[in-house]
Amino acid sequence: MSTLVTNIGELVTNDPTVDDGPLGVIADAALVVEHGHVVWTGPAAEAPDADERADVGGRAVVPGFVDSHAHLVFAGDRAAEFEARMSGARYDGGGIGTTVAATRNASDDELRARLCGLLAEMRRQGTTTVEVKSGYGLTVDDEARSLRLAAEVTPETTFLGAHVVPAEYAGRADEYVALVTGPMLAACAPHARWVDVFCEPGSAHAFDGDQARAVLEAGRDAGLGLRVHANQLSAGPGVQLAVELGAASADHCTHLGAADVDALAGGTTVATLLPGVEFSTRSPYPDARRLLDAGVTLALATDCNPGSCFTSSMAFCIALAVREMHMTPAEALWAATAGGASALDRSDVGRLAPGARADLAVLDAPSYRHLAYRPGVPLVHALELPSVQP
Ligand SMILES: [Zn+2]
Repeated sequence: MSTLVTNIGELVTNDPTVDDGPLGVIADAALVVEHGHVVWTGPAAEAPDADERADVGGRAVVPGFVDSHAHLVFAGDRAAEFEARMSGARYDGGGIGTTVAATRNASDDELRARLCGLLAEMRRQGTTTVEVKSGYGLTVDDEARSLRLAAEVTPETTFLGAHVVPAEYAGRADEYVALVTGPMLAACAPHARWVDVFCEPGSAHAFDGDQARAVLEAGRDAGLGLRVHANQLSAGPGVQLAVELGAASADHCTHLGAADVDALAGGTTVATLLPGVEFSTRSPYPDARRLLDAGVTLALATDCNPGSCFTSSMAFCIALAVREMHMTPAEALWAATAGGASALDRSDVGRLAPGARADLAVLDAPSYRHLAYRPGVPLVHALELPSVQP
């Protein structure tokens, strides 16, 4: 079964062979999908025949967003903490404990309903690939349960037992790290593709460089790929540790020194920026231009979570990246699609070239530029094709 998607006013392919820009834009375009994959792209006038036809009425089509950083397995609500923060309270990661208590008390069905609700919300906003972390269980059983639930909905599952030191281990962080790298990792690794750690030596709740290294090396030895919450609240060892260990992504990258930028520029680690967090915690944004000018590969993601940033909208993050971080609309869209795919070490998503998955997002607008030009307007959604089941 093949489908011709046609009358595309502007098709963003992220295919570098199409033109000399990063987005590989084709005007008045069409695309053919077969068995869930793209088999042809080009001008609509040259499109081959297909079994069925979908006319998008001149709208822009872009690769579905790849949200490479999200925390979606949780229970509870922290609107009051957000309100307090907006009234001047400081964010230091401590509120995560509130979500941990609610998550431990929730049933599987409650967690599953929240997770699936958020995924549906994301899909309605154009996101077709999502990474989902554990990190609100923080016991062997609750972390393994979180990852089992995450694995029901995405292959991009991340073990984040080292999210914070739970209250019952206060003052005994090294003992907690031994649990994370021992029995917890053993229970979680079968359900996880990645391991992650919140490396933030300045926070009383998170992990220092030695502890982060222990978590990452144990995860790597268990066959997991590496990701790091790095340099979010202050400068620290996270970014350079991520590059040294060959992590797929260093996330946040808000407080960087020259050595951090040099390390990213010289390594293979993607810098994933999460500007919704700076927006929602009223903090200074990462210096995206400095990273781009140094040649670092950037991804944009939501960090959707109940505490520091409860948005599921990649379009909102694109608008922030353009308005607040001085990325061009093209750079921001690339980072939210192909950049996110790089951060997940995936070549089958984040682009719409032959061989890629047919994960299409359609805009109620003639150009991708409207994603940043019309902030807050729900312009984009995943395109559901009759012959392609999500
Ligand atoms: Zn996060």
